[in-house]
Amino acid sequence: MTDTFVNPLLIPVFGICAYSGSGKTTLLCKLLPIFKQRGIRVAVIKHAHHNFDIDKPEKDSFLLRQAGAQQLLIASDKRYAHIYENAERQSPKLQYLLKRIDATSADLVLVEGFKHESFAKMEVHRHRVTSSLSQPFIHTNDEHVVAIACCQQTKLTKDIPRFDIDDINRICEFISDYVGLEKAQQSRSANCAELPSGSYDVNQATEHILAKTPVLMATESVALANSRKRVLSAPVYATIDVPQYTNSAMDGYAFSADAVQAKVSTGVTPEEQTRRLKLHLVGQVFAGQHYSQPLIGTQAVRIMTGAKMPAGSDTVIAKEFAQTEGEHIVIEHNVSKGQNVRQAGEDIAKNSQVFRSGKRLGAAEMGLLASLGHAQVDVYRSVRVAIFSTGDEVCAPGESLSTASIYDANRFTLTGLLQQLHCQIIDLGIINDDQNSLEQALSHAAQQADVVISSGGVSVGDADYIKASLERLGRVEFWRVAMRPGRPLAFGLLDTSDKPSHSPALFFGIPGNPVAAMICFMLFVQPAIRKLSGERDWQQPKQKAVATTSLRSRYGRDEYLRGYYDLNEHGQLQVTTTGPQGSGILSSMVAANCLIHIPVNQQHIEPGTLVDILPLID
Ligand code: AMP
Ligand code: MG
Repeated sequence: MTDTFVNPLLIPVFGICAYSGSGKTTLLCKLLPIFKQRGIRVAVIKHAHHNFDIDKPEKDSFLLRQAGAQQLLIASDKRYAHIYENAERQSPKLQYLLKRIDATSADLVLVEGFKHESFAKMEVHRHRVTSSLSQPFIHTNDEHVVAIACCQQTKLTKDIPRFDIDDINRICEFISDYVGLEKAQQSRSANCAELPSGSYDVNQATEHILAKTPVLMATESVALANSRKRVLSAPVYATIDVPQYTNSAMDGYAFSADAVQAKVSTGVTPEEQTRRLKLHLVGQVFAGQHYSQPLIGTQAVRIMTGAKMPAGSDTVIAKEFAQTEGEHIVIEHNVSKGQNVRQAGEDIAKNSQVFRSGKRLGAAEMGLLASLGHAQVDVYRSVRVAIFSTGDEVCAPGESLSTASIYDANRFTLTGLLQQLHCQIIDLGIINDDQNSLEQALSHAAQQADVVISSGGVSVGDADYIKASLERLGRVEFWRVAMRPGRPLAFGLLDTSDKPSHSPALFFGIPGNPVAAMICFMLFVQPAIRKLSGERDWQQPKQKAVATTSLRSRYGRDEYLRGYYDLNEHGQLQVTTTGPQGSGILSSMVAANCLIHIPVNQQHIEPGTLVDILPLID
């Protein structure tokens, strides 16, 4: 079997494989009209074994190729063909060929042959009267064979979906269902009808959101102690060296390595030079003190960590490697010049740029700013975010539950997520599923906030008023994203003509299911808030990890599974899922430390394959 197969297209690929003479082409010829009847446009890739030619010798295209055209495109009003002389002398890989298919004019690629490539396929097997004439099975040695089309008499030893070789309708249904074609078709047509901007994948949706997101320009000055998670609105330069002066990194003795060397090198063997040094102890210096006399010759001072190195000294020996003998210290250890000394400016040199504007501050940055003497920092103002939950069944924690109600989880996950970004949160509580209440909540929220987030009420049910309200109060930018969990995701702009700033508020209508709500926040709301807050060039942190189990996804959508990653015995990152993946199962999010991303063009991940993980971080 060849390397892991990655479909480069946004449409699914399915194979028909068999030993030659079993009827692959016959089956395909019967399948194609059925797909066509169902409105599914099929592209075919066929493997040919021989030096095939699609031209006839007397034709112009043939002559042109013979004359040396390495590639030839021949076109008419009915069709065109691209003939490419394959100089490699070996069959091209399926992935390479797929890239040559125009996926905008097909819904599915059926592949005849390429049985050694690891993609989903159906085996075609024809029964022969004498078993010695029958070909061996492929599916018994290839786990990518997901079904078999065979004769009634064929005996199978492995449990695998089986179809009569002539039952073309059922074979067509199986393939459509396996690759998720009907659902993808439906959602494509639903999207096309509803989306002004077409159907989006996660990247396109994020790009669209960021294109509509401004940077809030207002700034303020805050005390350094309150600057955690704030974003710098101006670059910071060092006005001093850090460390400010050359100091000791150890409790020990400071001396001049060169002076000591010069002194002891007269009449002593080289081994003794380094092995036994006798220095004259002339004083001591503690942190915060200054030893005013320059050291001369073999003089040494006792010195504490962080204390300024006296003039004339450049080296420190740790106290455990030296013995005192009256007014002397004896060192019986190798010494190298400059050891255990921190040079002035070695961390940050005076006048250098320490942070760019747009840097979000954490504990280490706060420490560094403090070490430069900053008591105040200039930052962008926090983003104001209004949140509310929707749903007649949703009630606030602390209230008593009726039989048909549930507690509101989403406002609290959102609160936690927004706190991590230092947003100013305007909590508008729970809004009932009725258009008036929703419109009131939305326009009230838009007047006060830069961003409005509602959860629930975005799927296509009778009680889903979010989209209608958004249409009345502003503009729907898009409505669905091809992903799971979280397909219903409304993004739009709310009109705020009464607000002094006039800039529209961004609106995110995220799904009601708690896991989907969190994932939509992470993928779509978070980048927008980071951009609004002035943070520059933020990228979702991403790692590669080895999948320990097989993972499945539907074709044509980005899938996000909750995962747990750690190091395996070879020191590689490995990842596994955290149990049931229903989009309402919040406990699987609690157990997770990352999301596993299966991209839109992958269906099946084998154990041992590298996958992208998005670590969940505080
Ligand atoms: P919806 O998007 O409104 O159709 O809701 C989808 C699912 O999420 C339903 O099962 C809701 O009951 C549930 N749900 C909606 N809002 C919340 C919430 N704030 N907290 C927990 N579950 C919710
Ligand atoms: Mg609801």
